[in-house]
Amino acid sequence: MITRHFAIAVTSPGMILRRERDLETPLGLQADETSKQGGLVSDEIIIHLIEDWLNLHGQDGFVFDGFPRTLTQAQRLEEILTKRETTLDLVLWLEVSEETVHDRIAGRLQCRRCGFTTSLTSAGFAARSVCPYCDGPLIRRNDDDASVLQTRLTEFKNKTEPLLSYYEKNDALHRIDGNRDRDAVFADIAALIENHSK
Ligand code: AMP
Repeated sequence: MITRHFAIAVTSPGMILRRERDLETPLGLQADETSKQGGLVSDEIIIHLIEDWLNLHGQDGFVFDGFPRTLTQAQRLEEILTKRETTLDLVLWLEVSEETVHDRIAGRLQCRRCGFTTSLTSAGFAARSVCPYCDGPLIRRNDDDASVLQTRLTEFKNKTEPLLSYYEKNDALHRIDGNRDRDAVFADIAALIENHSK
């Protein structure tokens, strides 16, 4: 939604890794073993992917989705941004309850080609699982499994939640209630981006 609305380049390591897996590269296959069990992929791999992506697409602003997810990644990101003489404008922390996480994961469908995300209950996608943007196949993710979810939540608690205190003193941090519907959440994010670019 951010790319479509603001024409800012967006990437997510999860998307890159799923593409690598579909291409059956050694990196994609190795990372998929970790991801499908609910674990986080090593910091070195993730930072390497992000640096490569920034070099190719990061000239006119960028958004990361699902990065950084560990303190090491956050520290390395700071170093990378300093090297590029750029700053972190916004850090968006989407707060969701475990109940919301369970519900979203149980019904999530994702476009294999462009990453568009929707749910089985939205707009009849269950009947015709085709992406409205690129005609790619809408599929269930192999890590969206209730049995894997507990590991993913534990990884989040141990490795990602500490980032909240890391960014707490940074004015860029904004906490957003992610339990609401997509349009309400996007309206908050859009307002922050608009205010920031004024
Ligand atoms: P996502 O699409 O953001 O839910 O990510 C899917 C999976 O990719 C995660 O469960 C991890 O295994 C891996 N992954 C994505 N982003 C990161 C990251 N920043 N650090 C480590 N692993 C990641």
